[in-house]
Amino acid sequence: MIFIFGTRSSVRPAVQTDYACPACGREHAIFAVPQQRYFHVFWIPIFPIYRSYSMVCGDCGGLFDTAHMPVPKEVKQQVKTPKWTFIGLIIIALFVVFVAITGSSASSDRKSGAMAKIENPTVGDIYQVKEAYKEYTLYKVASATKDSIYFYPHGYTINKKSAFDELKADEFLDEDDEYVEGFSKAELKADVESGKILKITR
Ligand SMILES: [Zn+2]
Repeated sequence: MIFIFGTRSSVRPAVQTDYACPACGREHAIFAVPQQRYFHVFWIPIFPIYRSYSMVCGDCGGLFDTAHMPVPKEVKQQVKTPKWTFIGLIIIALFVVFVAITGSSASSDRKSGAMAKIENPTVGDIYQVKEAYKEYTLYKVASATKDSIYFYPHGYTINKKSAFDELKADEFLDEDDEYVEGFSKAELKADVESGKILKITR
């Protein structure tokens, strides 16, 4: 895809100044014509860059350099940056807010789902767990009491959380009860909050 971006310029309404025209001599004839430069992507204004001025005589049309005819301060104060030059920034800001909101609501949905599964565990529930930095594994619910849940750990770990499906379902250490590990429900909920328990599935 060709990515088209760059700067463009927009001419803004002229402002009359007190300068007399050096060419035709007419008093107050010089107008400052602002040009707003802005950055665009596919012609959508993203943000304003700078503003330059042309000094033009309204009578004879003479054009003068701002180096010799500086734009008066009060004219500069009068000229505002048009709001539409910020459209791209506003769109980007809205998008960032949207992503943040949907992201945090997805994470709170995931948490409340996990909390419900800890409250009412089913034998066979699978917990995706981060054990350490770059060390993830699975735990399978073996049994539960009112306050605690007992698990068979998986025999292997993986080093990234996108690889959970590499851990085979028949490789939990569930042959005998030697490997069973128990945790209180309160402990498990704290692990959901801290992100140690990533997800609970069947
Ligand atoms: Zn003139």
